[in-house]
Amino acid sequence: MPTFRAPRGTRDLLPAERAPMVRLEQVAGELAARYGYHPIETPAFEQAAVFERGIGEVTDVVEKELFFVGAREEESERWALRPEPTAGIARAYVQHGMQTWPQPVKVTMTGSMFRYDRPQAGRYRQFWQFDVEAIGDPGPAVDAEIIELAARFYREVGLSDVTILLNSIGDPACRPAYLEELTAYYRRHEARLPPLERERLARNPLRILDSKDPAVADINAGAPVATERLCDACATHFEAVREHLAALGVAYRLEPRLVRGLDYYTRTTFEVFPAWAAGQQSAVGGGGRYDGLIELMGGRPTPGIGFGIGLDRVLLALQEQPARIDAAEAILAPEPAPLAVVVGSDPADTATRLRLATELRGAGLAVRAELGRRKLGKQLEAAARDGAHFAVIAGDELAAGQVQLRDLEAGTQRPTPLANLARELQRAARTHHHGLEDD
Ligand code: AMP
Repeated sequence: MPTFRAPRGTRDLLPAERAPMVRLEQVAGELAARYGYHPIETPAFEQAAVFERGIGEVTDVVEKELFFVGAREEESERWALRPEPTAGIARAYVQHGMQTWPQPVKVTMTGSMFRYDRPQAGRYRQFWQFDVEAIGDPGPAVDAEIIELAARFYREVGLSDVTILLNSIGDPACRPAYLEELTAYYRRHEARLPPLERERLARNPLRILDSKDPAVADINAGAPVATERLCDACATHFEAVREHLAALGVAYRLEPRLVRGLDYYTRTTFEVFPAWAAGQQSAVGGGGRYDGLIELMGGRPTPGIGFGIGLDRVLLALQEQPARIDAAEAILAPEPAPLAVVVGSDPADTATRLRLATELRGAGLAVRAELGRRKLGKQLEAAARDGAHFAVIAGDELAAGQVQLRDLEAGTQRPTPLANLARELQRAARTHHHGLEDD
């Protein structure tokens, strides 16, 4: 047993996982850029109040799942690791006066989030999200634009069959009456509510709708739904979101009980699931509108909408997905092998091998140098094991400005002047199937 292990609920992303995740981030980043989003980065921790006020005191994320950062005694501030990106971005929007920028401000962020949750499959204490936010546009068109962006992301990474669940949860004009009705309904069934849900009833009844407890499922089935009690303005907004989605050909399913785990949401909310797994743990992304959040952060009333992709979950889903999809294979592909390995007949002459490799790398090629001091035969075996296509063999003819260029797959080799080496390898790299990029 090793002395130290990664903390419970966290894991090391080894190259076989981190490389595919970087590819997901690249696809998402390029896609969002096409839609006019720009990357930003906020700190991994904030004053705890940013999350308490933004996300809501009576939510699981704040009540139970915040990771507090141990401040030194001389600091009076309380900090917490970010459990999600939106509250920090809203704080930054206000701090930097982004309301004076052209609206909406469209940003993306990618990084790890932290929730002190009970670890289980697909639920980690540190996980990765790619996030898009459009702040300053009341919608409804931008709502549809963001949902279409989300749908396209899953399609582009080869997650072939996802279901988008859509709901509207109203706003401060209509939610109080709805909450009252919901509370009255649960009061009538209070005797059958488990203790945790009974406690929620007093503090935040919406949370009961979101409950994972099977004992509550049949009570929830008869609960009043927000969509049927929207005020005129919210109903009109929701209708228009749906019209825009229809015009874009985006398929979704109405889910009147979708409330989402954070308080700041208003009106449009949505969540995305792989079609073959609709359980709570399998959501691969979710988002919604948060028209009151900027004001909570001390800014002028400003509408906003955002969406977070759960990158860990997308990877899991791609691995589990029954269908074989080329785009998914490309995301999950192992890291490409080096195009060539520089080996040499004089085991001790590491300087020459390193110099040749350095020149080829300077020419943009993926080249490994054999820096061990084993015999040429062993060096060539290692190069073949690497999956390299070529070996560049430095030997006596180096004095005459030549190396042997060996095609490890064909088993052929020919003398090649150093002056042509990079060009020949570049040509070979273009014409051979090598790693991800094929032309
Ligand atoms: P949420 O804001 O909770 O809906 O989170 C957005 C997305 O992040 C979810 O749809 C999940 O894909 C992912 N996610 C949330 N919590 C976790 C977690 N503890 N571990 C892994 N992924 C998570």
